[in-house]
Amino acid sequence: MVNIKAILGDITKQGNVDAIVNAANTSLLGGGGVDGAIHRAAGPELLEECRTLHGCKTGEAKITGAYKLPCVYVVHTVGPIWRGGNSSEDELLKNCYINSLLVAKRKGIRKIAFPSISTGVYSFPLNRAAEIAVKSVCDFVDAHPEMFDLIEWVCFDEETLEAYSKQIKKLFGESKEPVFPDDDELADKNRITVKTDWWKTLDMPEKHEVFTFKRTFSPEQMEKLKKGHIPEEMEDKWFWYMEGNTLYAHRSWTGFCIYIISFSEDGNHTVTVNREPSQYKETIIEKDEKLINNLLDWWA
Ligand code: ADP
Repeated sequence: MVNIKAILGDITKQGNVDAIVNAANTSLLGGGGVDGAIHRAAGPELLEECRTLHGCKTGEAKITGAYKLPCVYVVHTVGPIWRGGNSSEDELLKNCYINSLLVAKRKGIRKIAFPSISTGVYSFPLNRAAEIAVKSVCDFVDAHPEMFDLIEWVCFDEETLEAYSKQIKKLFGESKEPVFPDDDELADKNRITVKTDWWKTLDMPEKHEVFTFKRTFSPEQMEKLKKGHIPEEMEDKWFWYMEGNTLYAHRSWTGFCIYIISFSEDGNHTVTVNREPSQYKETIIEKDEKLINNLLDWWA
């Protein structure tokens, strides 16, 4: 179970994590705020390695060693500069969190600390940033429940700590249990909208589990499924589309493809589930089957 929390502190002093995230700028060559503090604490080798990365676009993330810092890696992400809210700031901030976690995941990082990205010099309104940050992490954890042991925000002042703590409590509750796709009323509330082209750029989880289920669909139902459901603004919990006889069901918030359903003429359909195998207890497969049947009732 992943522990999600916000603490007060200096991110450069965190020795209990494998990686810290830097709120960098597009040059990756250092700056003020948390970026300056991280470079000072890591020493000049960090800048040397950063030079080899040739910058980073807003919303994306790159990884380096941590040198003199007490962790192993630094994930550098570039938060959006607040321009009033109509310049994709929300989406870009979300991308920072998702891309940082994806980059970290590839290195096998299990404990990671974030600063409050964009709320310093980049002037993103604090509460709005905290809400997006925690929702993004919540949805990532929802899709990959076993991937991280600790995801924390290291807040530099009380006001920031309060903003993140409030959102964590709201989405994860006291228990900080990850939210599963079939019972995540919480994760579903108050989502901000994402654009349809967004999910296409995301990685899918690497490990799959497969099971079959039996159900007969009428030609009319198949026709309906084939139309898919990819709304312009994704307020829905799921979206899906079909290619041939295969249906791809995605979570609308992160864009992750969770279920790939291959329909078969004989009524025995195969489902590939994108989730860590360690998550596969029998009860979860049963839950998946139930959820898929519910979704298909709704979609067909
Ligand atoms: P941005 O340019 O993305 O807004 P800043 O570095 O200006 O980034 O600020 C981001 C947040 O990081 C702010 O809340 C700031 O107070 C905080 N911060 C600055 N130094 C540290 C540090 N050493 N540890 C943790 N947070 C820090």
